[in-house]
Amino acid sequence: MQLPLFLANIGQLLTLHSASSGPGPRRGPALKDLGIIENAAVLCLAGKIVSVGTTKDALRDPWLKRNRKKVIEIDCAGKVVLPGFVDSHTHPVFLSPRLVDFEKRVEGASYEEIAAAGGGIRSSLEGVRKSKKQVLVEKVLAALRDMAAHGTTTVEAKSGYGLTVESELKSLEAISEAAKRWRGTVVATLLGAHVVPKEFQDCSQKYVETVCKEMIPPAARRKLAQFADVFCDKGAFTPEETAQIFEAAEEHGLGVRAHMGQLSGTALQPFFRFNPASFDHMDHLSDDDVLQLSKHDTIVTLLPGANYFLGLKTHPHARKLIDAGVPVALATDYNPGTSPTLNMTMAMSLACTHMKMSPAEVITASTINGAWALRVADRKGTLEPGKDADLAIFAVEDYREIPYWFGINRCAMTVINGIVEYAG
Ligand SMILES: [Zn+2]
Repeated sequence: MQLPLFLANIGQLLTLHSASSGPGPRRGPALKDLGIIENAAVLCLAGKIVSVGTTKDALRDPWLKRNRKKVIEIDCAGKVVLPGFVDSHTHPVFLSPRLVDFEKRVEGASYEEIAAAGGGIRSSLEGVRKSKKQVLVEKVLAALRDMAAHGTTTVEAKSGYGLTVESELKSLEAISEAAKRWRGTVVATLLGAHVVPKEFQDCSQKYVETVCKEMIPPAARRKLAQFADVFCDKGAFTPEETAQIFEAAEEHGLGVRAHMGQLSGTALQPFFRFNPASFDHMDHLSDDDVLQLSKHDTIVTLLPGANYFLGLKTHPHARKLIDAGVPVALATDYNPGTSPTLNMTMAMSLACTHMKMSPAEVITASTINGAWALRVADRKGTLEPGKDADLAIFAVEDYREIPYWFGINRCAMTVINGIVEYAG
């Protein structure tokens, strides 16, 4: 029997409840509406949030008065509490860091030059292909636990470093087994279409067929993935191949999302018929893309960690997207090649300093809009009665400190489904 959890004396409670925004993901000015309650309290019962309000009001509650001895009470002593982060784009199934790539890039090699020299995504394949599943399970689980220690409670996790039927399914199984041993929520994505592996270099169409006919059907049937993802860009998959993979995913009941516009622009218009959950990266985008996106609920997931780690001088055009009413999310893009961080507050800090998003906007983009990107917004991303009791407690007095203290973990406690998962 799970004991009720009562968090009291919260300095600022960011409920993310917005009276002003309509249904659907947050756009434009609504991104700044954090629904803050000061001197607040939250009561959680059976893994769900039961009430949010001021500590004073909570202490007058007759139920709490009667049951106070049976409740686990945490005095937050003026700290900031917000919904656990939703990291809606990660690649945790890999074996080793890519240190040679790192060094080469520091010496001046480009992403394409590193890939051409046998580095990049392809260099992570061997480790995953040879690895026993259990080794991958432990890697993923370690990452999930580390994420929780940084305030993240819901994670999207992609396969994509196997690129054979066997190793992609093994990667998804590893995600699924790690997820069962972690209290948080994991949304799994098949990224069989990460790059065309060497064996199919001159016959990419054959590889696309392998993804469509041999990876997607078992991943869907065995419920190993909820989404299929495609890296649609130069050097990866064409828009036509992407549409083909989306069609197969749709046919088998998987949602779709894509790495889009990271290295070069791709017209988005032909893809909206698949109702994509998100387009991720979007460093390159046209005015027409922005217009199309503003009319749809497809989230643009911005991944500034990759731009930072690649040492790029350009960053995703957050202002242009937000000002046009496009719903945006932020994620870490945790992966061994281009963004080896799982700290959401680092991505948030980068979004403030390099993309000119405000501290309030980055919090919304990392919680409720991330939940929309994973289609779990009915359960995650805000602190409201009935939602899952996933919360992060930060040892700061003002929410703006969360992206301010960059590279430092100020997460003091993480609660998942009403249970303390991490206490720093
Ligand atoms: Zn990615």
